Amino acid sequence: ETSEESGPALASSKKTSEPAIFISVDRLPEIQDSRLRLPVLAEEQVIMEAVRENSFVVLCGETGSGKTTQVPQFLYEAGYASGTGIIGVTEPRRVAAVSMSHRVAKEMNLSTRVVSYQIRYEGNVTSDTKIKFMTDGVLLKEIQKDFLLQRYSVIIIDEAHERSVYTDILIGLLSRIVPLRNKKGLPMKLIVMSATLRVEDFTENRKLFPTPPPVIKVEARQFPVSVHFNKRTPLEDYTGEVFQKTCKIHRMLPPGGILVFLTGQAEVHSVCRRLRRAFPFRRGNTATGEGEEAATDSSDEMKKFKKAKHKRTVSLPRIDLDNYSALPVDEGDEDRLAGIDDEGSDLELGDDAADTEEKADPSLPLYVLPLYSLLAPEQQAKVFRPPPHGARLCVVATNVAETSLTIPGIKYVVDCGRVKKRFYDRVTGVSSFKVSWTSQASANQRAGRSGRTEPGHCYRLYSSAVFGDFSLFSEAEITRRPVEDLVLQMKDLNIDKVVNFPFPTTPSAEALVAAEQLLVSLGALEEPPRTGRVKEMERARLSCPISPLGRAMASFPVSPRYAKMLALGKQQDCLPYVIAVVAAMTVREIFEDLDRPAGSEDESSKLAQRRARLAQMRRLWAGQGASLLLGDLMVLLGAVGACEFAGCTLKFCEENGLRYKAMLEIRRLRGQLTNAVNSVCPEVGVFVDCKMAPPTESQVVCLRQIVLAGLGDHLARRVQQEELLDPKWRNGYKTPLLDEPVYIHPSSALFKTLPQFVVYQEVLETTKMYMRGVSAVEPEWVPQLLTQYCHFGSPLETPSPWLCASTGRVKCHSTSTFFRCGWQLPAIEM
Ligand code: ADP
Ligand code: MG
Repeated sequence: ETSEESGPALASSKKTSEPAIFISVDRLPEIQDSRLRLPVLAEEQVIMEAVRENSFVVLCGETGSGKTTQVPQFLYEAGYASGTGIIGVTEPRRVAAVSMSHRVAKEMNLSTRVVSYQIRYEGNVTSDTKIKFMTDGVLLKEIQKDFLLQRYSVIIIDEAHERSVYTDILIGLLSRIVPLRNKKGLPMKLIVMSATLRVEDFTENRKLFPTPPPVIKVEARQFPVSVHFNKRTPLEDYTGEVFQKTCKIHRMLPPGGILVFLTGQAEVHSVCRRLRRAFPFRRGNTATGEGEEAATDSSDEMKKFKKAKHKRTVSLPRIDLDNYSALPVDEGDEDRLAGIDDEGSDLELGDDAADTEEKADPSLPLYVLPLYSLLAPEQQAKVFRPPPHGARLCVVATNVAETSLTIPGIKYVVDCGRVKKRFYDRVTGVSSFKVSWTSQASANQRAGRSGRTEPGHCYRLYSSAVFGDFSLFSEAEITRRPVEDLVLQMKDLNIDKVVNFPFPTTPSAEALVAAEQLLVSLGALEEPPRTGRVKEMERARLSCPISPLGRAMASFPVSPRYAKMLALGKQQDCLPYVIAVVAAMTVREIFEDLDRPAGSEDESSKLAQRRARLAQMRRLWAGQGASLLLGDLMVLLGAVGACEFAGCTLKFCEENGLRYKAMLEIRRLRGQLTNAVNSVCPEVGVFVDCKMAPPTESQVVCLRQIVLAGLGDHLARRVQQEELLDPKWRNGYKTPLLDEPVYIHPSSALFKTLPQFVVYQEVLETTKMYMRGVSAVEPEWVPQLLTQYCHFGSPLETPSPWLCASTGRVKCHSTSTFFRCGWQLPAIEM
C-alpha cells in the first residue's frame, strides 16, 4: 500500500483516511523541558512521516531514549486517537504497562480515564480512553474476541527485543490483521519498538512482511561506562556478594545512584533488608513517605497468608472473574510465576543468617527501594522521585529495570549476571523457573543503565571469562519450549494451519507436529480424515480445527493434558478433586527433601534421624494411595486434603514431611484454576472450599478415568511372566516411547501392587528409569477412553489389551466385544 506514495507532503493529503488534525496537549513547563532532552523527540518528524506512509514501522532506540513515553504522545497529537480508534501499546511486563500509563497521563496532563492501562487482573480503561497500555496477553485475548481489533487505529508493540512468545505471536497476527483492515477501508498501523538494533527477525522475514518495513534508529546520548569484572565468580551466595559490593560502593564512591540487578522478588527483598539494616535511614526526616517503607517488605498476598495462618479455616483466595484468561500468559511473568519457587514464603521462612556481619552505619543514609513486577504501583513510582535530601538512591531490581523502566540518576550498576528463566519439561509440560546466566546483550544493557546522565561504572560479579561464555543474545522464548499450549491457543483463534503462521522465529517442525498429534489425541482438535489421498491426509493432519472440548481446554492456564482433566472434571462432582490433583501435579515436589539440612548446625546423626523420619512420613502417605489405586495421585490429593483441614500451617507441614512452600502454592493454584473453570462453565459453579471431604469410592474411580483420559499418551503395561526374555524386564513396564523397561519407584504408592496398566506423570531417570506420579488403570477402560490409541482386533487374536511398543498402540478387542462380554464400565463421558 506504499507504492502510490511520492512524498511526505503529498502523502498526508492524498490519503483521506489519514488523520490530518493536530490535537494540542497542554503540558506543564517542567515536563516539556525534560521531554526536550529525550533523543526520540528529535526524530518526531521522521517517525510520524514513516508512520503516515507505511502500515508497518520498526523503531529502535536505546533504553531511556523516550520510545515508550513519547511515541504514543506523537500519535495522539497527530490525531490517531481522535476518530473512533484508539492507540494501543503492548508491554510484555505488567509493571511497565501500569507505570508507563501513569507517566504518560501525567506528561500529557490528562486523566487516567484517558490514558489508561489493562493488565490481566485489573485496569482503569473507560469509554474516554484514548491511549491504552496493556500486557501482550491482554491484546491477544482481544484478538480472540475481535480479530480486526476495530477499537484501535494504531498498535505499538513495545519491547519487541524481549522476544516473549506472546509478543512474537502478536507481531505475526498483526502482520495479517493490518492489511485486512486496510482492505476494509479501516486503516491501521503497527509500530514495533525495540531497545536493540537486532530486528532482522522482523524486518527480513518475508513471510511476515513481504516488503521490509522502514527501520528508524534513534541515536541516544550515552556516556562512557567503565566495566569492572570480578576476579572470581561466586557460584553459591551471589546475593551476599551483591550486598557486600553495594556496601562498598556506598562507603567509598562519590555520589550517584546505585542500581542492583538480581533475579527475583525474594532475592530483592532479602538484599533490601540487609542494606536497610546496614545503613539505617532515619525516619520522619523526609517528604517521601518513608513511613510506608515497612509495607514494601511484604506483598499483600503475604499479609493475607500471615493472617490466614492463624485461623483454622481459610477460604481460598477470592475468586476473580477476570482471572479466567485462557492464556498462561500475561504479565511480567517471570516474577509472578517464579513465585512458584520463591515468592512469599521465603519472606516468612528465611531470614538472612549473614546479616550481622555489617555494622549498622546511620551516618551514611542509603535510600533503598525494591523494584520488581508485582510491586504495587505506588511503590514502583518511588524510584522515579529524587531520593530524600542527603541520601543516596539504591534500587534493588529484577530485570524489569533492564529495558522496561529507566530510573533517573543511576551512576553505578551492580550486576549479578544471572536471570530467572522459564524452563520447560518436555515430558510433563510443566514449567519451572531456574536461575541461569544472562546473555551478553542483556549484561551490556544492564551496564548501559549507569551511563545515562554522566559517565558510569558497572560492577559485574563474575569474571570476564565467564562473560565470554555467555550467549550473545537471549534466544526467542518460542524455541525453548514445547508448543502444544501455543498451538491450542492459536487454534482457538481459528488459525488452523499453524505451520504456515508467520512466526518471527518459527518453532521446529517436529515440535509443531508433536503438538498437533497430542492435541488430536486429547480430543482438543477435530480428527483429520482417515481416508483420501495420502498427501491430502498429510496436509489435513496439520491443519485440524479446534473442537468444542479444545475451546474449553484453551481457557485453562495449564498444559493441555491437565486442561483435559479439568474439562472432564465436572462429572460425578469430581471437579474440586481434579483441581487439587492438577494443582499438586503442577508443583514439582510436595514432600520435604530428604537430604536438605533443616538448620545450619546439623550433625550427621541428626541428619540421618531427620532422613529416617521423613522417609517414614512418605511411606505413611504412600500407604494411603495404595488401597485406592489412584496411587500416587491419591497421595497428592490426600496430602492437600489433610493439610487444608489443618489450616495449611507451617507446623502441620513440618510434622508431616510436606514442603510448606509447595502447599501454599497448591492452594494459590487451586484458587486460580477454580476461577478458570467457573468462567468456562458457570453452570457447574464449583466452589472450592479449602477443606474438602475425601472423595467417595466411585468418585475415585471417576478420577482415575479422568487422569487416564488426560495422560493417555503416558500409558504403560506391566511385562508378563511369559514375556520375560531378559531378567531386567522383571517388574518392568513397557511404554510406547521407550525401548527400555520403566519401573514403579519403591516410594510409589503402587510399588507393591504392580497393576497391569498404569499411567504416569513423567519418567525420571536415576539409577533406573522410574515412573513418577503413577496411577492404576483398569485394562477395560483403555479401549473405551483411549480409542484413539487402540488398534482393534478380534477377541481371539487379542485376548487381553496389549500395548505394542513399536506402534505405541494398544491392541484389544473391539469395543463392542467388551459390551457383549458384559463389562460394566463406570465410564465417564468424553
Ligand atoms: P524508552 O522506552 O526509550 O526506554 P522511556 O520512554 O521509558 O524510554 O523513558 C524516557 C524517560 O522518561 C526516561 O528518562 C525516564 O527516566 C523517564 N521516565 C519514565 N517514567 C517516568 C516516571 N514515572 N517518572 C519520571 N520519569 C520517568
Ligand atoms: Mg520503553
